[in-house]
Amino acid sequence: MCGIFGISGHPEAANLAYLGLYALQHRGQESTGIVSSDHSTLYDERGMGQVADVFPREKIRRLRGDLAIGHTRYSTAGSSALANAQPFRIGYHAGEIAIAHNGNLTNAGRLRNELESEGSIFRSSSDTEVILHLIARSSWRNSPDAVVDALKRVEGAFSLLMITRDAVIAARDPRGFRPLSLGRVEGAWCFASESCAFDLIGAEFVRDVEPGEVIVAAPGKDPESFHPFAPTPEHRCIFEYVYFARPDSKLFGRSVHLVRKRMGQELAKEHPAEADLVVPVPDSGVPAALGYSEQSGIPFEVGLIRNHYVGRTFIEPQQSIRHFGVKVKLNPVREVIEGKRIVMVDDSIVRGTTSKKIVTMFKEAGAREVHVRISCPPTIASCYYGIDTPDPSELIAANNTVEQIRRYIRATSLGYLSLEGLTRATSGAAGFCTACYTGTYPVPLDAEDREQLRLFEKPARRR
Ligand code: AMP
Repeated sequence: MCGIFGISGHPEAANLAYLGLYALQHRGQESTGIVSSDHSTLYDERGMGQVADVFPREKIRRLRGDLAIGHTRYSTAGSSALANAQPFRIGYHAGEIAIAHNGNLTNAGRLRNELESEGSIFRSSSDTEVILHLIARSSWRNSPDAVVDALKRVEGAFSLLMITRDAVIAARDPRGFRPLSLGRVEGAWCFASESCAFDLIGAEFVRDVEPGEVIVAAPGKDPESFHPFAPTPEHRCIFEYVYFARPDSKLFGRSVHLVRKRMGQELAKEHPAEADLVVPVPDSGVPAALGYSEQSGIPFEVGLIRNHYVGRTFIEPQQSIRHFGVKVKLNPVREVIEGKRIVMVDDSIVRGTTSKKIVTMFKEAGAREVHVRISCPPTIASCYYGIDTPDPSELIAANNTVEQIRRYIRATSLGYLSLEGLTRATSGAAGFCTACYTGTYPVPLDAEDREQLRLFEKPARRR
């Protein structure tokens, strides 16, 4: 998963891109980069790590011009290395172009094999680079047409921002898997994966970039919009609502926080519990726990505290400490938990490790009962459209019944929100991809596609 931000026609383009990426840091912490343009050349700065570390003031100063795009990366395809840090920038016969991508291309492996057999030399192990090769080889001479020509050959999930010397180009795949919004700030046009980036820079949210839409935003002109792809049913990622997006964002037309709260309400209707307190697993379980508490009348309590300063460079001590990994991040408030029957609300169970450790921590803190409630259905299938889910062999719900999972995590009871409940929480809007809960893939992948995608290295997951 990744975060992308772009701006066209602002004298402080790189500064605003930096701030926009800062707001999108939760979408990727492995690497980040910004490419800007002053209409004569492109400037780029990229690095491994988080936005604030990669961009000291001098680096931002070097990014000249009134156009910029940026990226925060959480790799789902391609390994964690500087060569894979985006935006990628190339020079080609029609000038210069750089690209920032959120999503996963399902036919990237095949296209790469084909391009390599025809002589293309790849610099990264990322699926995104395929798009640049296709753009460079297009017979169209101007960038927007070459971009459309290239995008007609790729399949899967893409929300993209590209920058040429004179414009920012945005594109969203016809199914609209990944989000992308259009905003306005001081006469400039801006784009972001999530609207929380607009709030930080004082931009006004204008609308979502539509699925299948390509927008060319050049300074001093109204953005030009195209719909070059054949109409396709929409499949927006429902997991963005469940876990990924920031709750203060407005995504696919709805407030993420309010959708999550409704998930909690639906969860309380489907899986009530006799309990004393509703306790969220912070941060991702908080809105659903509020909804559960409101619906059930069981008081909400902060019974688990999260340490927000756990960095990637954290070194584990030599001696073994019980439940160490999770204790670094989460610690129960004994005075709240002791003697109580707890409803523990979290957004999802992937491998089951986290829930098991938290249930044990609650019990060690004196909880009498721990009723685990999960605000989405069991995760039974991997995502091929940009969310990092492990291989099905590692997904606990792909290989166990709910009762078996309950026993594994040692919960008093376990309840998952149904797909119907999840759909109701999103106001019944149609057009979502729910492949991780159903195993039904809107862009079909054959065995070869899956094998190609498996070849890409997977990184460590975040919480
Ligand atoms: P696990 O211990 O594998 O069951 O991890 C479950 C926790 O990981 C959940 O409570 C989520 O908050 C978080 N999570 C779920 N999906 C993802 C994902 N795709 N990437 C990173 N973290 C995730």
